[in-house]
Amino acid sequence: MIFAARFLIPCLLLWSTLPVVAGVIECDDLSQLAAEIHDMRDEDASEGVARGEALLETLYRGDLDCAEGEMLVLRALASNLHILGRPHEGLVHMRRALQLLDDLPGVPQEKRAEVHLTTGVLHWELEAHDEAISHYLASKQASQAAGDMIAVARAAGNIGNLYNTTGNFERAREYHERALVGFEQEQWQLGVAGTLVNLAALAGRKARHHEAAGDLEAASKEYTRMLEDGRGALALFEVKNNDRGIAHARTNIAEALSGLGRAGEALDYQQAALELQREVGDVGGEIQSLLSMSRIEQSLGRLDEAAEWLNAALDLTPENNLARRHDVVGQLAGLKEERGDYRAALEYQKALNSLRRRIADNQMAARVEEVRLALEAEQRDQELALLRREAEIAGLRLERQRTTSLVTALLAILLLILLALVFTLYRGRVQRSRQLERVARTDPLTNLSNRRAMMERLETAHRSSRTADDAHSIILADIDDFKRINDRYGHAVGDEVLRHIAGLLEDAVRGRDVVARWGGEEFLLLLQYTDLAGGDAVAANLIELVATHPAPTTAGELSITMTAGVAELSAEVPVDETIRHADVAMYRGKAAGRNCHVVARDGDGTGA
Ligand code: GH3
Ligand code: MG
Ligand code: MG
Repeated sequence: MIFAARFLIPCLLLWSTLPVVAGVIECDDLSQLAAEIHDMRDEDASEGVARGEALLETLYRGDLDCAEGEMLVLRALASNLHILGRPHEGLVHMRRALQLLDDLPGVPQEKRAEVHLTTGVLHWELEAHDEAISHYLASKQASQAAGDMIAVARAAGNIGNLYNTTGNFERAREYHERALVGFEQEQWQLGVAGTLVNLAALAGRKARHHEAAGDLEAASKEYTRMLEDGRGALALFEVKNNDRGIAHARTNIAEALSGLGRAGEALDYQQAALELQREVGDVGGEIQSLLSMSRIEQSLGRLDEAAEWLNAALDLTPENNLARRHDVVGQLAGLKEERGDYRAALEYQKALNSLRRRIADNQMAARVEEVRLALEAEQRDQELALLRREAEIAGLRLERQRTTSLVTALLAILLLILLALVFTLYRGRVQRSRQLERVARTDPLTNLSNRRAMMERLETAHRSSRTADDAHSIILADIDDFKRINDRYGHAVGDEVLRHIAGLLEDAVRGRDVVARWGGEEFLLLLQYTDLAGGDAVAANLIELVATHPAPTTAGELSITMTAGVAELSAEVPVDETIRHADVAMYRGKAAGRNCHVVARDGDGTGA
């Protein structure tokens, strides 16, 4: 036993919360879990409470936000607490469930009905009748909206029972009759039969009221009604072979017959009910029947038989049902006194006094227990509220984290867009500046390098012309008698000739050589890693190339010649001086009759 308590129970609890602890739980699971916990009340309500509480704690500790699921779990937990006779605690949970229900307009009507029904039942248990009725009505309304007419009828029946308890018989009858119509419409016979039993019991209570008030005619009317309803219920229960129901209906009939002064028949019905109750083991029903038998015998003046039935009822009444025992013993004392058996009456009176003391003690203990439970419930409520707040704070924190991440992501995206923009702008600028650079270094007519670009290339080459291996030479070439072409064919044709010569020169030299337009009809060539002799050979080629390739122009093919001067760059001589040497050499070629090339010699630069 101790083993079981120490190990098995914690293991079971652990098992029951395992899926939760492992974090497998999701909002969608809660409805199913809540239904399972709710159904446990029929088998093991304590286990139902343990599982419900564990599930709630997990819910509040985690960051799940499932209001509807939480509400269903609360309701399942409260139903189990109700079965365990802990309605105070059940109501604490239902208050929270009702709050959630208020915040959730989209909850299905069936669930709404269930939450109100459980709340109503708990209030009834605590004899808070007004609250109970208002929740039953809300439940009935929700069932109606859901179209569940059996649930509507059942709720009406509950309300009827409640009004019966509070003594509002008219209201009670009204609701039971509504339930009856509802069950009949749905053709649910057991519901109809149960409601007839309720109506019969109600008629019985009314009849006794009238009797007490001395209105025997009204009492007789109610007993007749009770008889009819009881017979109606009996017929239906017999069709359904429902023994408990049959016994119940027979008891109703017996009471009605007795009220109508037909004690003999009443005894038969009650006897038959008693036998059936013994068969099915309905001890509660049996006791009721025995008490009823005793009342009937008393009405016939058969006091000894009445005492016998009372004793049989006392034997069956559990020791701890003090109220019932008190009632039965009180009746026995009265009977004995009536018989004149004062000794026996005194004994019963003593037993009655002892029962009274025990009842008083119990009531005190019950009040203490009630206070204790209320305190416990309050404490538990506070704990849960704390957990709930923690869960809310965790939720807020999570929300903030999410927002921060979102903002960070947005900023990152913004930054990327900005970078892309800057990069595109930068690339455009670089491209534009490269284009400008190219334009600034190119001769627009011939597309050759211009004077400025050539000067830079010359300076670079000049800086590297230190050894014989690094020798570079230049050729300055000038078109012969160009003025005459312009004069004869026009400036445009002159331009065509210039483009033709530029193309010839560009195609004739190697990739590393540079051809530039130096002036009007003058071209300067830089031949890299080419000494003076090499330059001389290239110049000879070029002169011949031009002379043998007439320029195709709009004015027809024009024979062109040119004259060139060749010089070598030297580390010791500035570039512009070497150019002048080439120029002087070129003019010597002009003077010598043109269409030739001349190598600069010492003294060319000095004007000699
Ligand atoms: P020489 O054989 O002595 O070099 O005689 P030339 O006529 O070629 O020499 P000159 O220097 O007297 O004439 C050069 C002419 O080139 C003058 C000018 O009008 C012309 N010229 C200069 N630049 C351009 C140009 O861009 N296009 C055209 N069509 N003509 C140009
Ligand atoms: Mg010239
Ligand atoms: Mg010329």
